[in-house]
Amino acid sequence: MASRIIPVDTFDLVIFGGTGDLARRKILPGLFRRFCASQIPKESRIIGVARTHLERKDYLLLAHDSITEFSGNHIIDKEYLEAFLGMLHYIKVDAQGEDGWEELGELVRKDVVNAYYLSVGPNLFGEIASRLNKWNIATPESRVVIEKPFGHDLSSAKKLNGILSQYFSENQIYRIDHYLGKETVQNLMAVRFGNLLFEPLWNSQYIDHIQISVAETVGVGGRGAYYDKSGAMRDMVQNHLMQLLCLIAMEPPSQFNPNSVRDEKLKVIRALADVEPHHIVRGQYDLTKTEQSYRQDAENSHSFTESYVAIKTEVNNWRWAGVPFYLRTGKKLKMRSSEIAIIFKELPHSIFEKGEGEKQNILAIQLQPNEGMTLDVTIKEPGPGGMRLINVPLDMTFAEALGDHGEDNPDAYERLIMDVIRGNQTLFMRGDEVEAAWMWTDPIIKAWESRNDVPKLYDAGSAGPEDAMALIQRDNRLWREIK
Ligand code: NAD
Repeated sequence: MASRIIPVDTFDLVIFGGTGDLARRKILPGLFRRFCASQIPKESRIIGVARTHLERKDYLLLAHDSITEFSGNHIIDKEYLEAFLGMLHYIKVDAQGEDGWEELGELVRKDVVNAYYLSVGPNLFGEIASRLNKWNIATPESRVVIEKPFGHDLSSAKKLNGILSQYFSENQIYRIDHYLGKETVQNLMAVRFGNLLFEPLWNSQYIDHIQISVAETVGVGGRGAYYDKSGAMRDMVQNHLMQLLCLIAMEPPSQFNPNSVRDEKLKVIRALADVEPHHIVRGQYDLTKTEQSYRQDAENSHSFTESYVAIKTEVNNWRWAGVPFYLRTGKKLKMRSSEIAIIFKELPHSIFEKGEGEKQNILAIQLQPNEGMTLDVTIKEPGPGGMRLINVPLDMTFAEALGDHGEDNPDAYERLIMDVIRGNQTLFMRGDEVEAAWMWTDPIIKAWESRNDVPKLYDAGSAGPEDAMALIQRDNRLWREIK
């Protein structure tokens, strides 16, 4: 079955930080793929902006090399690449001064969709927003895309929201969380709200607990200076993990539109229980024979920053009362894997003999490295030999039934950029959501800081600190294997 690709309107997209790591690894290759999928009209303009002086031909070379290097297994069609490069422009603009703004204003067309992707450090978000306004470049229809981190705590997030709101209305601001752009994350909403089957079971009566795990194998090498001021709680939990939790726990919105969905997510964040100190474990990876320690990677021999965190929390409302949500994320773990698992309760009564293999049903949503969704169900082991039960995963990704969309299937960044052009904010965080998320994480972080909390060490390449295992084992449960 071929996928339907609906072209977006002609647009001008300005990438502030157009020479940076994110632009080279994700934004430019992603736009190229959407162009190859005939989703981007060739009359569109993509305008790279940075403070380095570059001739247009130099920028085209940078874009060419980035696309070639970061397009994975996708075969690059030279003709398409040439045509794509023809859409690219480059202007040297100083975000903190007045150089280049006039030229930018002349190049950006006001009669097509125009969007500004702020792929720069957060210290520049406000400066760029104010100059887009001062130089009359942005219009009330323009869109501005804000990268993470959105603030460092509640007060800085409020300040940033305040600055942006001076120049843009909320429906122009697209705060990116690329986890929300993943195909399976959206499929989770489709499965929940497009089937009668799951909704009656989606509550404390049938669900035992939820696990959300984001395990990375990489350490902080290369971005240690940034990460050391942040830590796993700010870098991963406050945004990605909480957003995933919201999608699982939210009430069905009355419509699938941006504000209805975001209203429901906000209610979840506001219903999150405060975390007891003994329901949270902070960890930091230690050196092994083959791997450096966090402190070596961060070049800070006294760092107390966590590279791992595990949390048990609850959503205090009628639907979820008593259902633990276990969250964990860490760096330098044994495997790269992100998964949401919904573990259903045990059968109230078994008619089969004990030990015959029936297990709790588990709905597992795999976000990376391979996206997919499985439902573990108990069936009879085929063949003679009596009633032996086995647990098998029912593949709900249905890749075969739907045909392999591998080539066409956009990655998270591509999908989100196309949503910006379409003006669809459903998969972007609203200002009040981000503030509510900080409101929940701030007291936890402040408590650590005030008592100089020392993270538990775990071996690089392991499954995380022992204390994190104990956190869930105390409840007679086990973390799912990171695999
Ligand atoms: P980077 O340091 O590689 O690039 C920064 C870019 O900003 C460069 O193009 C630089 O020329 C430009 N710049 C810096 N100061 C400027 C100024 N005064 N005027 C104009 N341009 C200026 O950074 P990055 O890794 O590409 O990250 C960009 C943003 O995206 C950051 O907010 C980061 O937190 C976020 N982000 C990055 C990644 C990633 O994988 N790289 C992932 C998630 C979020």
